Amino acid sequence: KGPFDPVNPSHATFDLFVQAQSCKDVKHHFAELCKQLDINPKDFRSFYGKLKERLNYWKAKALWAKLDKRASHADYQQGKACTKNKCLVLGAGPCGLRVAIELSLLGAQVVVLEKREAFTRNNVLHLWPYTICDLRALGAKKFYGKFCTGSLDHISIRQLQLILLKVSLLLGVEVHTGVEFQGLIEPSGDSGWTANLQPRSHPASAFQFDVFISAGGGRFVPDGFKHKELRGKLAIGITANFINRNTAEEAQVAEISGVARIYNQKFFQDLLAQTGIDLENIVYYKDDTHYFVMTAKKKSLLKKGVIKQDYSNADELLAPVNVDREALHSYAHDAAHFSTGGKLPDLQFARSQSGQPDVAMFDFTCMHRAENASFVKERRGKKLLMALVGDCLVEPFWPLGTGIARGFLAAFDTAWMVRSWGMGIPHLKVLAERESVYQLLSQTTPENTSKNYAAYSIDPKTRYQRVNLSAIHSNQVRNVRDLSHSCPFDLSVFALSESFSGSEELLKWCQNHTAGYANVHVKDFTHSWRSGLALCALIHHFRSHLIDMSALDESSAAHNFHLAFSILEKELGIQPVMSAADLANSSEIDKLSMVLYLTQVQKAFSSPAK
Ligand code: FAD
Repeated sequence: KGPFDPVNPSHATFDLFVQAQSCKDVKHHFAELCKQLDINPKDFRSFYGKLKERLNYWKAKALWAKLDKRASHADYQQGKACTKNKCLVLGAGPCGLRVAIELSLLGAQVVVLEKREAFTRNNVLHLWPYTICDLRALGAKKFYGKFCTGSLDHISIRQLQLILLKVSLLLGVEVHTGVEFQGLIEPSGDSGWTANLQPRSHPASAFQFDVFISAGGGRFVPDGFKHKELRGKLAIGITANFINRNTAEEAQVAEISGVARIYNQKFFQDLLAQTGIDLENIVYYKDDTHYFVMTAKKKSLLKKGVIKQDYSNADELLAPVNVDREALHSYAHDAAHFSTGGKLPDLQFARSQSGQPDVAMFDFTCMHRAENASFVKERRGKKLLMALVGDCLVEPFWPLGTGIARGFLAAFDTAWMVRSWGMGIPHLKVLAERESVYQLLSQTTPENTSKNYAAYSIDPKTRYQRVNLSAIHSNQVRNVRDLSHSCPFDLSVFALSESFSGSEELLKWCQNHTAGYANVHVKDFTHSWRSGLALCALIHHFRSHLIDMSALDESSAAHNFHLAFSILEKELGIQPVMSAADLANSSEIDKLSMVLYLTQVQKAFSSPAK
């Protein structure tokens, strides 16, 4: 029987639901489907089972097969691990929805709140291989046929949200749009933890929960969490989306992916000479739109009249009154035109939600990172487990595509924590384990995470190659028990800045202070550090009594790193966020991790000795 069989209108509705291209349509067709099949979506515990039973349609069955496979993983204990838990998730961005799916598979009741009514972000996200595998396993291709076809490894934010929204709804997650979370309301009388919402009378205000997950994106930090910021040199990003008409001509144009271009000096020199546009990097993805993201130099933005007046403060500099939109459009257009060799015909801007050309300029000089990923509050004997996931946990450096990759890793880690919580493990242990895993997040790369993507689950051991779940002990998170004046515990994990800006100065500093040491030639942040000797030399330069350089061997990299890390931790309090063995064995040192680590070292040695 086909989808338009009049006997089975639910088949046609299911197809419309699967293909829906806006948040509103998804919700509409979903409601219709529930009505036709006479299933109450609030009946979250039996919703998916009933749906499977009543929608006897081959297309739906192909999807159930995928979802069933995921749901059958032992970690979820047949959906019984968290049957007593009620979870409120703030934000229906990709990470909020991804964690909601995992929580519902664990058997928890899950409510998601989203302040926006529509999913409108055209910007395109880079996907690491494991995220592609993860999304395929959730049926991404059934919802979006073009999903990662051929060598494509990206997706627009809105398409990703649509896929995850559909999966969430099918699994019984309650998603409310157009409702803003404004804070937590402490338990009183018989009532447990609830949320203060706008509009006030929203039915979700009555929802009582014992788990609160913030996936509010960007700089959204709920009470109880502290952010660290690492300020680099001014970094101005521009994103631009152009209409993709999907012509053969457009299909021919090559994408520009990753950071390789950063090193292609000739390209940038030619761009500057021919157009006056001066960029540090540029990425181009062909997706629903032709999407470009670039880091522009302030001087050229001033020269081209994009920024009207120079200010040292980035907020003033990029304030709408100080930006000439027309000039910005030309700047983005010309950069896109030049970098695709003029081969994209008729570059016309796609429109943003407000109907304007979809071009944005933003400042990513400061990168934020939460000091801790989890937190427990207790009032009137009622405990609330809180966690951050996605951009509000660790702000990503967009051109590297860490937003979704690290965002999903944190979503899985958080689900694993909720599972432990649901299983009644003491909360200090739950927190300590979560923070132990969190320490690894900023160093993750596609290279140093497990390649066995099919085996990825919410269990951290399936994903991180070397994870010590008790790296942080319960007694280190003990002060979180001050539950009426909750102050977050301080883990001295360093703040994240993945901006490359400022690293030249750091490189010079490293060169100056390692000059003359045997077998040490610092030329970059990767190869030059492989033997571990350069790091030891830096320590020796500043604290010669702490290290005997003559006893070190260039070929014992693991030993050298181990020694350097333990001295830096003991003497200067810098936590070794990279494993010595990993560094010694990996074919490539992660530049960002190294820059960040060395920034800490520089800072510590530059401050007066204690
Ligand atoms: P987000 O996707 O930001 O989702 C957070 C959600 O929470 C939002 O939908 C927001 O409306 C909602 N929310 C916030 N506060 C509240 C509240 N109080 N109540 C209810 N809901 C709330 N990454 C790239 O790699 N390339 C890009 O070009 C790029 N462009 C971006 C453009 C914009 C405008 C934004 C906001 C982000 C962009 N990012 C980009 C980052 C990328 O979108 C994120 O890394 C990714 O979406 C994962 O983020 P997330 O789910 O943690 O948060």
